[in-house]
Amino acid sequence: MTVAPIDRAAAWVATETDHGAGCVRPRPLAFVDGEGARLYTESGEEYLDASASYGVASLGHAHPRVTAAIADQARRLVALTPSYANDARARYLDALTAVLPAPLDRAFLCNSGTEAVEAGLKISRLATERHGVVACARGFHGRTMGALSATAERAHRAPFTPLLQGVGHVRYGDAAALDEAITEETGAVVLEVIQGEGGVRPAPDGYLAEARRLCDERGALLVFDEVQTGFGRTGTLFACEREGVVPDVLCLGKGIAGGVAMGAAAFGPRVGALPPGSHGSTFGGNPLACAAAHATLETLLDHDIPRRAAALGEHAQERLAPLVGGAAREVRGRGLMVGIELRTKVAPVLAALLERRVVALSAGRNVLRLLPPLVIEEDEWDAVLDRVLEVLS
Ligand code: PLP
Repeated sequence: MTVAPIDRAAAWVATETDHGAGCVRPRPLAFVDGEGARLYTESGEEYLDASASYGVASLGHAHPRVTAAIADQARRLVALTPSYANDARARYLDALTAVLPAPLDRAFLCNSGTEAVEAGLKISRLATERHGVVACARGFHGRTMGALSATAERAHRAPFTPLLQGVGHVRYGDAAALDEAITEETGAVVLEVIQGEGGVRPAPDGYLAEARRLCDERGALLVFDEVQTGFGRTGTLFACEREGVVPDVLCLGKGIAGGVAMGAAAFGPRVGALPPGSHGSTFGGNPLACAAAHATLETLLDHDIPRRAAALGEHAQERLAPLVGGAAREVRGRGLMVGIELRTKVAPVLAALLERRVVALSAGRNVLRLLPPLVIEEDEWDAVLDRVLEVLS
């Protein structure tokens, strides 16, 4: 008697569909292993990962240095409340504050991007005693109630209104609109340096500097959400470095800890130390995440990975440019944050790429987004681009 092989992947998909929360519908595919920019199914089929799990796996999957740091720390101490100091946490805070744009010299450590933005909003209220927030159309800042209030997309917001009061959205990239919106009641101006979920849209030259000037003039804090753009993705360690504009609060997440859940809201003397008890997180700054983040930061710096991201990004822009006028309206982005605005919906393109064993992302309905691990090999990146060109030609 022959026994039919059990399709375990299909069973996992069914379990996640039936017993997961339901807010993400899993694709009919399961990955069980990863290495560098490759993902593997249980039966060993190999896929190129041009998503890095939404930009999280910046150093690729199972990076040996991050893996070793996690294993070492797990053997020593995983959990320790911030009420007690810790070697891994102190080492990481030293390393992080050494590379933050001056004068940022403190960081609230948390567990995700949305928490970093929540912290940014609370820090702004504490520092300014104002509750007004100016954010941007197409901006995405997370899904907890504060961050969601700054997020623009109606579909994300509508079921959860009323959200925070005093939050307004203006056209991104429009300095005159900022000028009109920022008042004496504005506590925070929350901006992405390059809008990610909103379609991979870099800020126009001079826009961030003008935002800085207006915030200074009117006493608001400038909060940059670099959850997606931080830690080398756009060709510099932080995307704001390119324009030489330093925010009052810098929100970080995704690639910060090589795949381990972490976020951070960095700030400086303009805010100063937060009053004890004014904010907190049980898991925030746990030694395991700090060890992973430290290994990630050292690896990024030791191998000059941001520069690599810049070079691979330029290569992609050159290779993809001929799509403009054909399938694409525009090819945008910086470093390894690439957006291809299509003339058609992106969903069938993602499906066609998946058939060709490439995992990619959308950013809105008609933008194809590529956020590969920053360590993707040149030939792997060319293979991704070959398949994108093939599908779009
Ligand atoms: N901010 C930006 C710019 C993001 O791209 C995201 C996630 O995509 C977030 C905040 C929210 O991060 P998380 O999903 O870790 O809460």
